[in-house]
Amino acid sequence: MDTKKITIAIDGYSSSGKSSMAKRLAATIGYRYIDSGAMYRAVTLYAMRNGMIDDSGNPDTKKIIAALPDINIDFAVSDGIQNTILNGENVEKEIRQMAVSNNVSPVAAIPEVRHALVAKQQAFGAEKGIVMDGRDIGTTVFPDAELKIFVRASAETRAQRRFKELIEKGSQASYEEVLANVVHRDHIDETRSESPLRQASDAILLDNSNMTIEEQNGWILDKYNEAISKL
Ligand code: C5P
Repeated sequence: MDTKKITIAIDGYSSSGKSSMAKRLAATIGYRYIDSGAMYRAVTLYAMRNGMIDDSGNPDTKKIIAALPDINIDFAVSDGIQNTILNGENVEKEIRQMAVSNNVSPVAAIPEVRHALVAKQQAFGAEKGIVMDGRDIGTTVFPDAELKIFVRASAETRAQRRFKELIEKGSQASYEEVLANVVHRDHIDETRSESPLRQASDAILLDNSNMTIEEQNGWILDKYNEAISKL
């Protein structure tokens, strides 16, 4: 049996399909999957519920930093579905709502929030055998990851995918609203001072604008096999 385990970092733009690809890869190779975006979303949900974000979407940075020790985030898998647990409550559905998407990037730009979540993400990956996706996994969380992928696709392609997903789940969002959110989050994620979204110099670029899900899954599995064979 092959016991060599590596760390796999998958970064990229919102709704680029990186989570589906990361989840599938983890299931195929028997690794743990961690969705780091879900952790930023859970902190944002906590802040929204506790009146720490005003109506214009501005976070009360001081209050959020003070609340960090009270925010416990974990993951639990049931029936093959990964659920995000915030202080013991399953918030998986709620953190995917547009209200959270609209507020998450300014919260994720707070350096203290990032430090707390990066430490937790590093602890999840201490044993290797992990696939983690996000924005700064290959640059900040696991700079020594053996396999780093950076995923991109046009904003319109990504908005179209996200819109389809939301409609299928019964949400009321419009395509224009979803596109605006995608473009807005890209901008905040790329321009924040603390670990902005960027491709690590040793990451492999994947533009999946014109790829099917099956093609992407095959592509990343090949990259994993190549990485393992180099050990
Ligand atoms: O991946 P997802 O789109 O769910 O992430 C939600 C938001 O969390 C992103 O738009 C980004 O602002 C933030 N994020 C981050 N760093 C990560 C993962 C997500 O800043 N590693």
